[in-house]
Order: sequence, then structure tokens, then C-alpha cells
Amino acid sequence: MTAGAPFLPYGRQSIDDDDIAAVVAVLRSDYLTQGPMVEAFETALAARVGASRAVACANGTAALNLAYRAAGLGPGDAVVVPAITFLATASAARLAGAEVAFADVDPDSGLMGPDHALAAMARAEAAGLRVRAIAPVHLAGQVGPLAALRTLAAERGLTVVEDACHAIGTAWTDGAGRTVAVGADAPGVITVFSFHPVKTIAAGEGGAVTTGDAALAERLRRLRNHGMERDPARLTVRDLACDADGTPNPWVYEMAEPAFNDRLNDLQSALALSQLGKLDVFTARRAALMDAYARHLAPLAPLVRPLARTPGCRPAWHLCVALVDFARAGRRRNAVMADLRAAGIGTQVHYIPVHRQPYYHSRYGALALPGAEDYYARALTLPLFPAMADGDPERVVTELGRALAPAGSV
Ligand SMILES: *Cc1c(COP(=O)(O)O)cnc(C)c1O
Repeated sequence: MTAGAPFLPYGRQSIDDDDIAAVVAVLRSDYLTQGPMVEAFETALAARVGASRAVACANGTAALNLAYRAAGLGPGDAVVVPAITFLATASAARLAGAEVAFADVDPDSGLMGPDHALAAMARAEAAGLRVRAIAPVHLAGQVGPLAALRTLAAERGLTVVEDACHAIGTAWTDGAGRTVAVGADAPGVITVFSFHPVKTIAAGEGGAVTTGDAALAERLRRLRNHGMERDPARLTVRDLACDADGTPNPWVYEMAEPAFNDRLNDLQSALALSQLGKLDVFTARRAALMDAYARHLAPLAPLVRPLARTPGCRPAWHLCVALVDFARAGRRRNAVMADLRAAGIGTQVHYIPVHRQPYYHSRYGALALPGAEDYYARALTLPLFPAMADGDPERVVTELGRALAPAGSV
């Protein structure tokens, strides 16, 4: 390890005294569970991403599951999910009862495009499934060809569930030249965020769904809270809602469908709200670090390349994924990671193609998704978090160069 240099994990939250004070204030208040901070966070999040409604929940996985369920997905339905994502994009669909149609990705960006989605849809339909939704994943903070994916979904009547767990703060330019924030209202689009500490803003654990659809938001709110309905206007069983003389029963609730407790609490919401106020600062810092990475990685091409940039996207970078030609370097990825670790640098791989997991392999058989395999063979996530020092990207790239060409190897 470089003398005196701190160990660099691949990602880390940034918590300041004001974040801590916000949480402590909740501890001294009346509400520990879902209270006024949840609503305050939802209002601020919706305003920040240009959505009319945000529904906060326990984590990004719950947010995905709530979104799929609120979109009406169930047995016999299928969701198109890119093979390069975290497990949860797919598991949350299975836990809603739907099947997963894994799509291939662009090997240089890790992102799904319309042709990948169409191939997955054809496979699902050939298996007798109704494809009802498509779940683009904004890997590392970048969106893929979203305008084309949304058009495809609109033509086929599919709901778009955008997994934006990596992409709070990202914006892109649509076909008409308008700037669109990830999470903003759009017809047929539901967006999902995570506030796990490794993501761009931290709530401890936390998630949210944004939507422009009022009825869908109501359904999300019910589903996050045991499926309970308390609104007098929506109660259906008269002798539960009222006494024999017609006076309302103040304790009444009804359940039309079973659901989990997927609530976020006020402690988490206070932290998330405080962190949301720093999103622009975090994003700018991450962008500056990514620029430094790009400069220092350039001389390592073609052995190492940054992720391919998608046109029209202004990413709020969550991960710094480098694509390394380990075969050409004649080095194994795990050996390079071990060398970097010994030099005080933490790295990770995002992600193992999900269709290769034993659960999906036994459910759907072997799938040939060469773009995902090619991406996976090269992916190496380098440290990226706001508290990194200005010189850290150079240090990381220098050590990466050394690890790829160990002394005496040429
Ligand atoms: C983190 C993550 C999730 C799950 O979010 P949790 O808050 O950890 O449950 C889902 N999808 C992607 C792409 C993620 O990175």
C-alpha cells in the first residue's frame, strides 16, 4: 500500500454533521416510523426529478416489486430485463409472480437497446408469455437509447419500469431536443430509485418510485403498507366502514390484496432528505473525478477503456466501470483485483449476468447473450465517491497499469 494513502473502497457514502443532526432531530420527535419526514422527502424528491408524485419505500428492491405489482404484473406476464443488472431488477419481477425475459446489452456500455429488447420479447412470446413491461437499467448512471425504448413500449402497450437505482440526477435529451430528468413524469413510465449507502445519496436503506399517474401512486402507497386502504371514499364493505346507524368507524381499514410492510421510516427519510440537498454537489464531484479517470485511462487504450458514452446523456455517475481486456494483458481479473487490493485500492465487478444465476438457469435454460458475456468478461469497477482526493484517479490508474503489466511480464 502507498505509504499514508487511505484504502479506497469502490464506493462510499458521504455523511456530514448536518446529515447526522437531521437524523438526531427525528430521534427527539414523536415519529420514528412513517411520519412527516417521509412526506417531506417524497415532496422534495418528486420536485427534484420533475415527477408529480414520489412514493418512498424500504429499499430499491421493494420499489421495483411495488412498481411491477402496481403495473399489474403477475403470473403469465413477462418483464424484459437486461442481463447486466443487480439481481433485484429480475427477482422483484419473479416475486410479483411474473417471468423474466432477459435481454442482451451493448458490450461497450452494458446497456439494453431496442433490438435487444425485441429479441427478448420474441423469446418470451414464443414461450407463451404476455410481455407486459420492459425494465431498462441505467447502469453506472447512464441511460441507454431511452427514447427508442419508450417508443417501442408505447407501440406495444408495455409499461416502462426504469431501474434508476444508479441514476438519480441523470438527464438526457429526447428526440425533440428536450432535456428529460430521470424520474420525471412520462406516460407509461414508472421510475425506481435506491438510497442504499453505496448509491449516490444514502438513506441507510431506502427506495422510491416516481410516477405521473395519480391512481398508480395510490396503489403504490397501499401496496407498501400491507395493502391497507383507509380512505373513506374507497371503502367497499359498509358494515365494516360504519356502525349500524351509519356513523363511520374511525378504526376501519380494508385489504383488497395482500402486501408486505415496505415502508421507509422517518429516520431514513430525514437522512435521505438531507442528502438530496447535496445531490448536485455529489454529482459535480463525481463528474470531475470521472473526467480525471478519462484523462489518465486514455494512454492505457486499447487495453483499458472507459464505458462507452451514450449520445445525449448527461449522467450523474454512480460507478466508474473500466472495460479491461484481461486476455490481451495476459492477466486474470481476480489476480489484478488482488494486486490492486494490496496497493490499497478496492474494486468490484458490476455485474455477473443475471441469467447465469442458477435459479434462472434452471428456470429458463442456457441463454446466449453474447453482449452481456463480452461486457462481463471485461468489467472492473474502480473507486468513485465524492470524498476521493483529486489525485486518487491517477493513483488508481497507475496501479491498474502496473497490475496489468507486472514487472518482468513483457
Ligand atoms: C442497488 C440496486 C437495486 C436494489 O436496491 P436496494 O436498495 O439495494 O434494494 C436494484 N437495482 C439496481 C440496478 C441496483 O444497483
